[in-house]
Amino acid sequence: MATSPETEHPVKAFGWAAKDTSGIFSPFKFSRRATGEHDVQLRILYCGVCHSDLHMAKNELGFTQFPMVPGHEIVGIVTEVGSKVKKCKVGDRVDPHLQYAYYDGTITQGGYSDIMVADEHFVILWPDNFPLDAGAPLLCAGVTTYSPLRHFGLDKPGTSVGVVGLGGLGHLAVKFAKAFGVGPDRHIGWYHRHGLCNSFPIYGSKFVEAGREAYLGRRAIIGSATGGLKETQEMIDFAAKHNILPDVEMIPMDYVNTAMERLFKSDVKYRFVIDIANTLKAE
Ligand SMILES: [Zn+2]
Repeated sequence: MATSPETEHPVKAFGWAAKDTSGIFSPFKFSRRATGEHDVQLRILYCGVCHSDLHMAKNELGFTQFPMVPGHEIVGIVTEVGSKVKKCKVGDRVDPHLQYAYYDGTITQGGYSDIMVADEHFVILWPDNFPLDAGAPLLCAGVTTYSPLRHFGLDKPGTSVGVVGLGGLGHLAVKFAKAFGVGPDRHIGWYHRHGLCNSFPIYGSKFVEAGREAYLGRRAIIGSATGGLKETQEMIDFAAKHNILPDVEMIPMDYVNTAMERLFKSDVKYRFVIDIANTLKAE
């Protein structure tokens, strides 16, 4: 028997969803599960806009289930915790680190919405005194660039990095590289501009298509999630310590369709962040 998104779970939620492959967003009422004993409920404050949100909204990866609320660069404030939660408490600032599918088989709607419930295992703790708004894109774009730099040993003085494409990913790759003490590539410097909308950081002699990793990451396989979580926490702590923040343009929720058009044309320096707390109005 079909259940409506609004009554599927007990907790009312509101967001903006793509309803079909046109990828056009509009207001959407749905629901979240009740806070379980290991769960954390949070009020979403900001959510970054990632290229993969655009691809998901248009079902370009082939597995979108509509209606679909995207958004996986989510930061918010904890409003309720289950009885067995140890990792955080009410009032803490966290990233719920979205997993698209829960073990109960239901699809988890993303962060272009007002509230979220996540298992404490997946929660990333936000460092004190680190901005939530500008910091949100680090949760995908940040870890996508931080991770290969670490993986390929390009995280120490004496190594060099050049980034092909100056975009949401590329500009962060350079910020992390500088913080690691890495130098610019001898041939192309820090950046080589080109016309593609994604950034493809090039690391020493190795060519790493970092954007692709982002897509694979979103398909997320539980087996790799633990390493991903640990690395994301490590990345965000490192970013806070070295004050690494992406360059962002804050937008209201109802600007999202225009933002997607601009994102498609790479007309953003370098990442949109939706001001959920102040501009998402339940209808
Ligand atoms: Zn992303």
